[in-house]
Amino acid sequence: MSAWYCLLPLIGSLSAACQAPGPPDVPARYGLAQTTENREIIERAIVLVNEVLPRDMPLRLRPTWPQSGFYPTLYFEEKRNTAFAMEDVIDREFDNGWRFRNADEIPVFIVDATSLGQVETAFVPEGARTIFISGRNLERQFDTFYLRGEKAWEQYSSFEKSLVTAVILLHELGHVHFDDAGSYGHSARLALEDLTKPSSTIANKEVRADRFASEIISDAWNADEMKGRFSGAMGRSSIASNLYRVVAIASNTNDLVEDPTGAFDKVEKLGLFRASGYSHLNLYLRLLVILYQLEPTDERLKLLQRIDQAFAHASASGPH
Ligand SMILES: [Zn+2]
Repeated sequence: MSAWYCLLPLIGSLSAACQAPGPPDVPARYGLAQTTENREIIERAIVLVNEVLPRDMPLRLRPTWPQSGFYPTLYFEEKRNTAFAMEDVIDREFDNGWRFRNADEIPVFIVDATSLGQVETAFVPEGARTIFISGRNLERQFDTFYLRGEKAWEQYSSFEKSLVTAVILLHELGHVHFDDAGSYGHSARLALEDLTKPSSTIANKEVRADRFASEIISDAWNADEMKGRFSGAMGRSSIASNLYRVVAIASNTNDLVEDPTGAFDKVEKLGLFRASGYSHLNLYLRLLVILYQLEPTDERLKLLQRIDQAFAHASASGPH
């Protein structure tokens, strides 16, 4: 809980220049450089995450750069002998936003992707309660979520890119919440019996972090807040429905493009849901699980059962 920005000078030393020191350069400790790639999109995602979280949850994302002013402003303050509180700031016109008192602040740093592996878009580094996100690798995620490119239904806006980024940040926040050391857990397996369990009872770190994200979205969805309390705020439930929408866009477009169930050519290709050499489940399987958790339809459950059976059959019979 550090004071990153300028503190008011004490009375008597008003002449002292107030130099904002900025946040400590945590990425440098890991040999990573900071960048500004996709900063506005990430900033908006941070604002969306902070609005969609339950109002009584102290865990909050904090940007490590001065906010652009395009989105609601996030104010952080510490006050002794008081509990965590989230308050609406509605008397500052263009700078309206939220004030978080005594938050459990999780700084978000945008880092240079070039020294990272191919797969890492965001992660919680070992030994620091912070989130590193690769501004450049996010670009690849926008393709994977079919927000743009030849296979996309339409070319989506920067708002959808922020929503996808918010889903990624919610997953990472799940790792922070459960104190997962390092970035990855053991190999994830699709365990149907775990799908609707509360996140706190799930052992696999990656499945648990996804479940944390879907719980936050469900909770916000059920909060019945379709409108923000001031201009620029969206309302928790409408953010939740938009987060659902980008997950559904990715999952549905993938169905159409890859046809894993053989709806078009009658050839089932459930192997497409297999992950290769990565501790997370295949992205589209994860998205299908999240959709099922948010809206448990029979159709989704049946597909998950078919995938589960196909995997069980493949690992029992084939060399692997
Ligand atoms: Zn993870």
